[in-house]
Amino acid sequence: EEFLKKLPKVELHAHLNGSLGIESLRDLAERLYGSTSEEFSQLCQRFIQFDRNSDLDACFKKFSFVHELTSTVEGLRYATELAVRDFDKDNVQYVEIRTTPKANSNYSRRDYLQTVIDAIRTAREKYPRILVKLLPSINRAEPLAAAEETVSLSIEFARSHPDLVLGIDFSGNPGKGRFADFVPILSRARDMGLKLVIHCAEIENPPEVKEMLQFGMSRCGHGTFLDPIDITYLKERNIAIECCLTSNLKSGTVPDLKEHHLKRLMKADAHKVLCTDDSGVFDTTLSKEFLLASEVFGLSRNQCISLTLEAVHHSLANDEERNQMAVKVKDYAASLA
Ligand code: IMP
Repeated sequence: EEFLKKLPKVELHAHLNGSLGIESLRDLAERLYGSTSEEFSQLCQRFIQFDRNSDLDACFKKFSFVHELTSTVEGLRYATELAVRDFDKDNVQYVEIRTTPKANSNYSRRDYLQTVIDAIRTAREKYPRILVKLLPSINRAEPLAAAEETVSLSIEFARSHPDLVLGIDFSGNPGKGRFADFVPILSRARDMGLKLVIHCAEIENPPEVKEMLQFGMSRCGHGTFLDPIDITYLKERNIAIECCLTSNLKSGTVPDLKEHHLKRLMKADAHKVLCTDDSGVFDTTLSKEFLLASEVFGLSRNQCISLTLEAVHHSLANDEERNQMAVKVKDYAASLA
């Protein structure tokens, strides 16, 4: 829908390596290898295909395809630029990109973050309409030492790039790792001024949800299995829940969109934002997510505008940046009246 496409949207939950669509994967492969083969095209098609009974584990396996393409400095650099390009193309005016710093024979975790930061700075010049921020991720499936290093580097980069590195994301396969083990590391990040966004209740795990809510967070990722008391708890603390419709459907955590928790959140008048999660893997855009929500839950244009303003409010940007974002949304709304 034209209205949704032109809306100056705000994306608060997007994983870098999940945000490359087929076209970008082809562009990336062409840049890296000079050309793309028929075999590569088939791999891309398979990448966005989901079985009826696909689950989270199957989704997590898909990332290795992109991770291979971004396993060099140049691959990572260009992938970051392409991700920004695609969000800009969808009229996203602000995006917080998350990504897990990785180490391999081509780069260290420090190189990884530096490369992404440099690429974001370059992309800002190429795509001046969109404001990009970075949230380094902790992958809960990885050893604690990796998380320690990510937090140390994030503290350092947040000091040297305070306009860009705003916080830490806690993500990864929710069936792996124990949140409690990461608490001291996350506490250190928070004590040093970093904001925390946490994947919480993506699968059913009430004891962990309690630990996470007690620990606190700036925003809650997914929140699929939050119970009504949890939802009220977050609402009272002005914590938004990042809803990713297509992602939840395709990864099988929500069997039917009509039953998506967005419905319960709307009913409870809780704070919520619409996000893509992994627009590449799940073959979506933020415009498409709004369209889906409109189709399934009958969101009006005004509600789409309100949701976008809610996303502005819950972004980790500073007051001035948020004011500017809100003005763009309100000007757009006024231009329609
Ligand atoms: P990257 O951090 O840029 O490599 O983006 C891909 C990574 O994001 C995956 O390997 C996961 O660790 C994480 N991720 C992507 N989608 C999800 C999700 O729905 N739940 C939890 N973690 C996720």
